[in-house]
Amino acid sequence: MENESFRDHLSTVTQEGKRVWVYPKKQKGKFYTARTIVSFFLLAFLFVTPWIKIDGHPFFLFNIFDRKFILFGFAFGPQDFYIFALGFVTMVVFVVLFTAVYGRIFCGWICPQTVFMEMVFRKIEYLIEGDASKQRALDAEPMNGKKFFKKSLKHVIFYAIAFVIGNTLMAYLVGIDKTLDIIGHPPAEHLAGFIAVMVFSGVFYFVFSKFREQACTIVCPYGRLQGVLLDPNSIVVAYDYVRGEPRGKLNETKGDCIDCHLCVAVCPTGIDIRNGTQLECVNCTSCIDACDSIMVKVKKPKGLIRYASMKGIKDKVKFGFTPRIILYTSLLVILLSILTGLLMSRSDVKANILRSPGKIYSEMPDDRISNLYHVVLVNNTFNDMPVEVKTNTPDAQILLIGKDVVIPSLSVHEAEFMVVMDKNKINTTVVQLNIQVFAAGKLFYETKTTFIGPQKK
Ligand code: SF4
Ligand code: SF4
Repeated sequence: MENESFRDHLSTVTQEGKRVWVYPKKQKGKFYTARTIVSFFLLAFLFVTPWIKIDGHPFFLFNIFDRKFILFGFAFGPQDFYIFALGFVTMVVFVVLFTAVYGRIFCGWICPQTVFMEMVFRKIEYLIEGDASKQRALDAEPMNGKKFFKKSLKHVIFYAIAFVIGNTLMAYLVGIDKTLDIIGHPPAEHLAGFIAVMVFSGVFYFVFSKFREQACTIVCPYGRLQGVLLDPNSIVVAYDYVRGEPRGKLNETKGDCIDCHLCVAVCPTGIDIRNGTQLECVNCTSCIDACDSIMVKVKKPKGLIRYASMKGIKDKVKFGFTPRIILYTSLLVILLSILTGLLMSRSDVKANILRSPGKIYSEMPDDRISNLYHVVLVNNTFNDMPVEVKTNTPDAQILLIGKDVVIPSLSVHEAEFMVVMDKNKINTTVVQLNIQVFAAGKLFYETKTTFIGPQKK
């Protein structure tokens, strides 16, 4: 691009720093229909999931207050920190690789901000205030009965939806039962929960009624990382300048772009995609649909704006699965498989037994010798777990120190036990020992260790 001045400022902010309100034109087209269908399933998943329970426990829970998490019905606690750490690293690598190949597909199709803004709030706005031109006219009007009614109706509905989203978020954090409890009782009985729901609802209302595209262009870190994550091979929503330029009115044009500005008019972030890939572009595909509709009218091939890489456009190469895409996609699949494997192989209860540091053995009354061991037990289930430590080594006996061991749900428990043997049954200084750990009556851990006895005289 010869004139890159558009990169020096946001299209939604004036030179004086004032907000330019975006009135994107109503859209239709195959991508918009596909996004509507995808959004329907995503929204259904989001709102239905908190109600799903498995054995009385939520399907998903992100209880950061009590540090308890449930993913797909599997419980996780602080003891699973390593899985979260690995999950986080996987996610970062995934985001980098995915974006390098597929650009911002996530932003346009899956991001809750785009889904709610374009598929819920924007649709309601069109329904109440009409298309872009009507909205512009309504905002320019002085306050009157009709305007007051339309604006009030819109904001009441917006707040009601924000309130539902706020409560849904609460259900993900503390569970649906607790959320219903908060809703069903006077605020004074659940002050903290009530304040949290009000804050969540207020934030969502503000974001979707006022802040809008600025969440993507100013706040979202993913959007701001695009500059380093994208390269000329990344697939983005792109204008085919080779085909489109030089642009001009229908009869005078040499390129295919008739400069109708429809792609700009439908853009929810207010940019002109013909300037090239920009930070503000959330890859929502509206400009593709808009331009395709124009191309049909002027009897030219669709796809002047399409999913393509900048290199593909420059070299006039159609999209195809290049070795780079295959390699990155394979890496993504491998990463996800490793993480899934880790999650699937995670056992309900785990144990680790080590000899306690310090004295090697102790002499006890009645000519008996004891060794001290330390056991670390992890309970990854929703229920408290009674645990028994046993040995099947002949002549050895286990004595637990303290009370019977019960590992509380989703926690780590440490205990000590002694292995005791009659002195005259010990023939060597080192006796091979087999220790078994039973949880709720079932053997789940077995290890070989050693029992140290005194030197034979
Ligand atoms: S440029 Fe196109 S894809 Fe990007 S945000 Fe605007 S309308 Fe959506
Ligand atoms: S919608 Fe297509 S033809 Fe119209 S200005 Fe945009 S790129 Fe050009």
